[in-house]
Amino acid sequence: MKRKNEPSFRESVDMMFNRAVALMDLPPGLEEKIRVCNATYTVRFGVRLRGQIQTFTGYRSVHSEHMEPVKGGIRYAPSVNQDEVEALAALMTYKCALVEAPFGGSKGGLCIDPRQYDEHELEQITRRFAYELAKRDLIHPSQNVPAPDMGTGEREMAWIADQYARMNTTDINARACVTGKPLNAGGISGRVEATGRGVQYALREFFRDPRDVEKSGLSGKLDGKRVIVQGLGNVGFHAAKFLSEEDGAIVTGVIERDGAVFNPAGLDVEAVHHWIAGHGGVSGFPDATFVPEGASLLEEDCDILIPAALEGVINMSNAARVKAPLIIEAANGPITAGADDVLRQKGTVIIPDMYANAGGVTVSYFEWVKNLSHIRFGRMQRRQEEARHQLVIDELQRLDDYLGDAWSMSPDFKDKYLRGAGELELVRSGLDDTMRIAYQSMREVWHDRADVQDLRTAAYLVSINKVAASYRAKGL
Ligand code: NAD
Repeated sequence: MKRKNEPSFRESVDMMFNRAVALMDLPPGLEEKIRVCNATYTVRFGVRLRGQIQTFTGYRSVHSEHMEPVKGGIRYAPSVNQDEVEALAALMTYKCALVEAPFGGSKGGLCIDPRQYDEHELEQITRRFAYELAKRDLIHPSQNVPAPDMGTGEREMAWIADQYARMNTTDINARACVTGKPLNAGGISGRVEATGRGVQYALREFFRDPRDVEKSGLSGKLDGKRVIVQGLGNVGFHAAKFLSEEDGAIVTGVIERDGAVFNPAGLDVEAVHHWIAGHGGVSGFPDATFVPEGASLLEEDCDILIPAALEGVINMSNAARVKAPLIIEAANGPITAGADDVLRQKGTVIIPDMYANAGGVTVSYFEWVKNLSHIRFGRMQRRQEEARHQLVIDELQRLDDYLGDAWSMSPDFKDKYLRGAGELELVRSGLDDTMRIAYQSMREVWHDRADVQDLRTAAYLVSINKVAASYRAKGL
């Protein structure tokens, strides 16, 4: 959506890109090559529903093929358009480079309100869309690998995988054509929670360095920080749940389509989520104040603001009134380029989307590798690891017996130490490592370069350098 007096989403991404490349020493031709979107395919297809043919419009955009396959989610929303899909594809290029997922950037979208269709109809529509894309290698294990995004999830990914497999009956790697599948259809443990989990790991890393915390004007740790979340969908729900249950953060506000709920003493995130599932919105949720004009809560006093729904929600019309000293962009593009300027001048610290929500593509990368290797992570080594740990426990037990009352093992040490890592533990560990390392690469630029004032510019510098290195290695 284009707001009055504001650039479109794609123009916003380009402006942020331009701000970063102005600080770099790239040959102008290469700069242009990286910025532009390579190709966008538009498809219009008909599906017979409720006795008549309905026509749908979909897109798949490929921003950069410096690495293949290219990767990026498929979004179902009535507002999907070419500009948005291209902006999201560009962000995927930078995101993958930043977290070292070996993919180029892509994105897809279908103009549809999925809530208007039943499951069977959605399956017909999704299969037809997948057919149109797969026919042109825009879904393909080694060319283009979609994933879930707003309005899509495991169910749609399973239909896409099955559709591709039907069309490519002898492709042994067919399952790697899409990620975010359910576990029983070739998915990986921890993919559903991955993006929200990544937001949690990102905030933990931010709070590990007191210099970063100080830049935002906050102090201390995550414990006790007041959080407002917009969008309690896949990303927002998991981020809010983990931060409140595991890090002691207090979720004071949740903004949804129909309004917002607010309770300064903290909301039970699971309960709000459950309420939305049963009532279609937050309205009527007990133990909280309902705010009909939900977006006004973006301006409420809090420590951390997590926009996890749509793009452009913080724009020139409200940026000056946003009070949160720290914003983590769980959604893609929630802050327009103009609002970004306003907030930076106010000293607000913004953890940028290309990093903050990279947990999804990181675990998608693990899923893709799992599909290509045809084996679950941990299957070969888990029991062997446990057997080796048992040797240590046996020795400690001997010491324990020998020393009597003078020393003994801590009560739950045995259980914890003995347990070998299963797939979920390995996925979380790989994700944590990825989020920490990527943050550290941004932090280094942020602290070391006097001309870099914010994390977003730092993120662009790191990722554009990586993309440029790939192009140079190809001789461009
Ligand atoms: P989702 O469809 O699961 O959830 C979106 C939530 O936002 C829903 O609860 C919806 O009701 C709410 N919402 C919609 N319009 C709203 C409005 N106007 N005001 C307040 N709330 C509103 O989508 P998701 O997968 O959680 O994606 C959310 C954002 O995160 C998107 O920007 C997406 O691109 C980004 N993202 C998602 C993933 C992923 O793995 N799913 C990965 C990276 C980035």
